[in-house]
Amino acid sequence: MKEFSLIDTYFRDVSFQRKDVLLGIGDDCAITQIPAGQALATTTDTLVSGVHFLPDADPKAIAQKAIAVNLSDLAAMGAEPAWLSLSLSLPNVDENWLKAFSEGFKELTEYYSIQLIGGDTVQGPLAITITAQGFVAADQALKRSGAKPGDFVYVTGTLGDAGLGLDILQDHTDVDNAEHKAYLLNRLHYPSPRVFAGTSLRRVANACIDISDGLLADIKHILKASQCGACLQLDKLPLSSAMVDSVDQDSAFHYALSSGDDYELLFTVSEEQKSSVDRVLACSNVPATCIGQINGAVGKVDLKFNDESYAYSQTGFEHFNSGESSNKHRNNAKRA
Ligand code: ADP
Ligand code: MG
Repeated sequence: MKEFSLIDTYFRDVSFQRKDVLLGIGDDCAITQIPAGQALATTTDTLVSGVHFLPDADPKAIAQKAIAVNLSDLAAMGAEPAWLSLSLSLPNVDENWLKAFSEGFKELTEYYSIQLIGGDTVQGPLAITITAQGFVAADQALKRSGAKPGDFVYVTGTLGDAGLGLDILQDHTDVDNAEHKAYLLNRLHYPSPRVFAGTSLRRVANACIDISDGLLADIKHILKASQCGACLQLDKLPLSSAMVDSVDQDSAFHYALSSGDDYELLFTVSEEQKSSVDRVLACSNVPATCIGQINGAVGKVDLKFNDESYAYSQTGFEHFNSGESSNKHRNNAKRA
């Protein structure tokens, strides 16, 4: 199969058709229309075989994760997703792989009413790059720089599940309860981008980020951009019952603080807006938990457990970091 018939067969009609796409796949560029009063939010993420997923991973899961990690970035900005571009590097044309990949793609783009508007297809090591674009009024974007001392720190969903899922996948640990195990692996393979939570928080949150490299690593981005510090109460961390039933408490805190791939939102809210959080999130189907407060100690994260200091040194995952502090719970796919 040649490049063009591959694009025609697997990607031309793979997604929802939007009215704001004036010209989609097939020409030199896509032409799209941004709604009046809105600005364009653009983000890109790449998933590389052997780094972000195992080479034999389910193509449907790869497609959906590649979309989800991008939608998570749009959600963290409070942007409503609209369009995707897909750059695909494939070692060969494996029609079974492409069929499952494009089916996974179709399912999620239909769910979010977003359209694939173009891309590029090349031969090379398996890698998927997606660029996602969405809309947000420029003055309503949820930036990292808006947190203020006194703000309350919230996270959506539960933390650490995907990290424990990765350890199960790589045989670093095991979980006896089959239901818990399936849940944890599902959280790793099919992250839920908090798209509706993100748009709902636009008038409520002062700052927002998605947690992709671990809570501690990602809150530090907010603290740096906002020039403040934070105190977090570990006893308040939202943990799934699969997590609580499967590992001891310190391990659960470690997964929640430092393992990657959560794709939950972390946001800060002023005292005045605190009572609005549950109301605006009610229709997004995801709860948020207050886990601490922003303070003036620039760049510092104070960890407390039942109001006493909790000693902890690890941070999240970083590429190009082979040192001791990189997170052993993420992206060891190469070694598996
Ligand atoms: P060009 O030579 O101008 O780069 P291509 O031959 O790469 O164009 O692509 C032809 C058309 O197919 C373009 O509209 C491009 O956006 C689209 N396209 C190519 N690869 C993909 C893909 N993997 N997914 C979606 N659209 C694609
Ligand atoms: Mg091209």
